[in-house]
Amino acid sequence: MIPRLHFAHLPTPIEELPRLSSMLGGPRLMVKRDDQTGLAFGGNKTRKLEFLVAEAQEQGAKMLISAGAIQSNHCRQTAAAAAKFGFECVLVLTGQMPEKASANLLMDELFGAKIVNVFDRADRDRILKETFDKATADGKKPYLVPYGGSSPTGALGYAFAMEELMKQLPCEGSKSSQGCPDWIVFGTSSGGTHAGLVLGQRVFGFKGRVLGISIDESEDWLKEHVSKLASDASEKFGKRIELTPADVLANADYCRAGYGVLTDAEREAVKLFASREGLLLDPVYTGRAAAGLIDLIRKGFFKKDETILFWHTGGQPAMFAEKYQFDLLK
Ligand SMILES: *Cc1c(COP(=O)(O)O)cnc(C)c1O
Repeated sequence: MIPRLHFAHLPTPIEELPRLSSMLGGPRLMVKRDDQTGLAFGGNKTRKLEFLVAEAQEQGAKMLISAGAIQSNHCRQTAAAAAKFGFECVLVLTGQMPEKASANLLMDELFGAKIVNVFDRADRDRILKETFDKATADGKKPYLVPYGGSSPTGALGYAFAMEELMKQLPCEGSKSSQGCPDWIVFGTSSGGTHAGLVLGQRVFGFKGRVLGISIDESEDWLKEHVSKLASDASEKFGKRIELTPADVLANADYCRAGYGVLTDAEREAVKLFASREGLLLDPVYTGRAAAGLIDLIRKGFFKKDETILFWHTGGQPAMFAEKYQFDLLK
């Protein structure tokens, strides 16, 4: 048995997006609501943390240490999980600290996490290691939750999410039945979500395609890194499955502006989902992924009779960070 805690609200709902679909004149669109996973405003990190926190407990850890950007959704969810399961939490956050904590950073503080700020990203790995070593020396028994929770253990969350999806929709059996998505589209960054879905696709026999829209990494890096992560994660099922870069579909056409930079494309996507479906995206991840999806639909990349499932990975609290709050409606 793979150690796992059960605190996510699963299965997350699947909804149709008929008004958006007809407005784009495109394929059938559905959304899987992993922004509703239940832990501290939800998001994709919850599924990973079910496995990561279980591993930390198994190792007798007493503290969770992780790292990310100031408005990291991953760090917010990690801090919440630490509070829920009685761990101390230290977060190494990169970038300029705002005068007043808002959005994710505000929540990190409410959950009682200790913040170590690193101004320059180049120092991040070194300071993370020093923080970890010091906690170890002080007898704090830390467990390192990797960036984005994207270790082989964390990736398992999305392998099982694929199984969940296939049970919810008519995806099982020899013929790919109507209603089962032809494509799954989502935002990919540290690769754990992507790796889990690709592994789940192989293990549970999903017949559609799994397309990650890059938030900040190159296509080559994603294919290489995601296939390795998925292969390593497969060992947890008992037998290694070798996945190759060719098994990974990634599109890095929409991340040129850089991580967290809001452009008209993200603004349009956020506004379209909000005004057509009453559905909120976030400015950094799902906004960018949806902008890619919308562009691909407009370009005729998908067939009109196909079904696309947009996997919502959460992140909406960032909308209320100073950096984005006054920028979204421009
Ligand atoms: C972390 C995150 C992602 C990216 O997931 P990875 O597994 O790191 O690739 C996508 N969307 C949101 C909202 C996130 O917080």
